[in-house]
Amino acid sequence: MHDAGINDAGLAGAGVGQWWHEKTLDELSASEWDALCDGCAKCCLHKFEDADSGEVYYTAVHCRYLNAQTCRCTDFAHRSMLAPDCLDLRTADWASIDWLPGTCAYRLRAQGKPLPQWHPLVSGSRESVHVAGMSVRGRSISEEYVHPDGIEEHIVHWVDQENPHAN
Ligand code: SF4
Ligand code: SF4
Repeated sequence: MHDAGINDAGLAGAGVGQWWHEKTLDELSASEWDALCDGCAKCCLHKFEDADSGEVYYTAVHCRYLNAQTCRCTDFAHRSMLAPDCLDLRTADWASIDWLPGTCAYRLRAQGKPLPQWHPLVSGSRESVHVAGMSVRGRSISEEYVHPDGIEEHIVHWVDQENPHAN
């Protein structure tokens, strides 16, 4: 996750115009990079990769360091030390980020796609991702309450859904 606690004021201050549609990921400043994260926290969910097909399956089980109400990391500064699987997306190979949710802003922009209406940069509010039902708020469970062998039983199919209210 790469929402470094940015607020609504931070959205406006990150840049001018629709920089999120005009710049490539490589061209983003540090503040623009942070603002591009939609704050969904889906990347903080445990996931499995099918060794044969390479397909990624997300579960509803989230990292213990996630505040599931705010959808923010409780110790962002030390995340890579606390959770070794927590990757710094800025150093990721964008040619192979298909493990990220299909709605992830970084994945969308890496593919040259526009941000959705519910993205905080488009709506102007950090709450819009939650109101649209696009975050993990209210539908995930901490790994603290799930036996490691039982995580796979929590596989879900809403992570890539673009319109959760359609069902
Ligand atoms: S999935 Fe992408 S946009 Fe959503 S919190 Fe993670 S890095 Fe940010
Ligand atoms: S440490 Fe956990 S909660 Fe924090 S950003 Fe990484 S995966 Fe998300």
